[in-house]
Amino acid sequence: ATDYGIKQALIQLGVKEINEGSSTGSDCFSNGDLISSFSPVDGELIAKVKTTSGEDYDRVMRTAEAAFLKWRVIPAPQRGEIVRQFGDKLRELKDPLGKLVSYEMGKSLQEGLGEVQEMIDICDFAVGLSRQLHGLTMHSERPGHRMYEQYHSLGIVGIISAFNFPVAVWAWNTALAWICGDVCVWKPSEKAPLCGIACQHIAASVFEANNLPEGISCLINGDYRVGEMLTTDKRVPLISATGSIRMGKIVAQKVAARLGKSLLELGGNNAIIVTPDADIKMTIIGAVFGAVGTAGQRCTSTRRLIIHESVYDKVRDALVEAYAQLRIGNPLDESNHVGPLIDVEAVNMYQSALDKVVEEGGNLLLKGGVLKGEGYESACYVKPAIAEAQNNYQIVQHETFAPILYLLKYSGGLENAIALQNGVVQGLSSAIMTNNLREAELFLSVEGSDCGIANVNIGTSGAEIGGAFGGEKETGGGRESGSDAWKVYMRRQTNTINYTTDLPLAQGIKFDL
Ligand code: NAD
Repeated sequence: ATDYGIKQALIQLGVKEINEGSSTGSDCFSNGDLISSFSPVDGELIAKVKTTSGEDYDRVMRTAEAAFLKWRVIPAPQRGEIVRQFGDKLRELKDPLGKLVSYEMGKSLQEGLGEVQEMIDICDFAVGLSRQLHGLTMHSERPGHRMYEQYHSLGIVGIISAFNFPVAVWAWNTALAWICGDVCVWKPSEKAPLCGIACQHIAASVFEANNLPEGISCLINGDYRVGEMLTTDKRVPLISATGSIRMGKIVAQKVAARLGKSLLELGGNNAIIVTPDADIKMTIIGAVFGAVGTAGQRCTSTRRLIIHESVYDKVRDALVEAYAQLRIGNPLDESNHVGPLIDVEAVNMYQSALDKVVEEGGNLLLKGGVLKGEGYESACYVKPAIAEAQNNYQIVQHETFAPILYLLKYSGGLENAIALQNGVVQGLSSAIMTNNLREAELFLSVEGSDCGIANVNIGTSGAEIGGAFGGEKETGGGRESGSDAWKVYMRRQTNTINYTTDLPLAQGIKFDL
């Protein structure tokens, strides 16, 4: 890859031509097979990465276990100081890392840089949090007793991440886990392994500069088989897994079989409800960005628009007009709105979803299609499509990771729209566009959206790091990032101390000897 300054970016990030994929510090070691990382931008081979063998894996785990014993006794605010330095390093390397994200994953350069910004933001959040790992104190029912709870470090956190947020999701987990005193073993997506290697180099340089042991940040590489080494490993008390529902169901069972904890961040099927009181201009901007941004490859991408019949034609026509303005092409060129899908397999899934919606009786308003010719050599560029459909179509119930937007019409009251919105197995992000206070409040009430994220007059896509992020139902129930999401990375302990010379028992029980 000589174009777009990628070679230079890789050098700045310390990523070598042929990489070794397992690491507990800045040096890599790996004995597994090679996987190739191709860019969906131009189809070029960027580099090859060695996967983690069973032997490599054991070495990683032994180093991580030893590092945990040292890391957990460093006071949390001092761990926060290390995370602060890590955030500073990310500020320095924002440009090359953002560019690598864009080139390896295919999202726009702006979004690649935005992902690195999210990493920086979560570091800042974690630094503050490192002085706020609070437990409660309670009043004991027994005289002369004190009762409180405290949070202790958990151990090794296994992080499995998806291709579409190849760096930010790791940082959401790792920045919090580190201040909590945990060490992390990360298996990035096999579709974006170089992003993983670049991040590992950055983290390792900070730990090394502070004379901290290897193993606080660890990287393993490969496909689901390497992921399963982590999920079945008793030494890993928490698995945080981001990806498809299919993956989550397998991971949840493997982790539950050994009674480990899992934090699952799985697929969404996100909808915006457009009521008769919606601001149509805002609706169109929110819906178009939500549906075609990152080429529809965000877990929070807008998949369904649930539009009241009284404004349906207006919204439909405005959407078709807006889609006509979209420029599809190289995501490193900032004048383009829509970049490529991750690979040809994703293109085939997009195509098959369009076939299915027609088979089920849907009407393609914009029929989409795969782009060919100059600039589209990777065969991963597709045209965003819009289909008029019904919520109960199988394909509408399913998350297709591509820019396909389904228009659903509702009539009558808002409760009908909410029933459609909630009538899918996923429960990640949802939104309502309305200027009507009653509608907005109903949507946010217990009778409203059943999703982990519910927005008013903003689209479904994207989230700030300050709030807890995650979804209900088959989205997995996990929460990451802000609010009190840190608690999952620690173990809670309740302590009762008796400072008297008596030994009263709880619940007034008498036990005279
Ligand atoms: P995927 O499920 O194919 O892979 C995700 C990760 O899981 C990869 O690292 C993969 O190697 C690993 N994996 C797969 N099977 C495994 C197994 N049996 N054991 C252990 N690891 C296994 O997902 P993808 O195509 O990379 O990403 C797209 C999906 O991720 C979409 O469904 C999207 O909605 C979801 N996603 C969700 C969130 C969220 O926060 N809710 C965020 C980003 C992406």
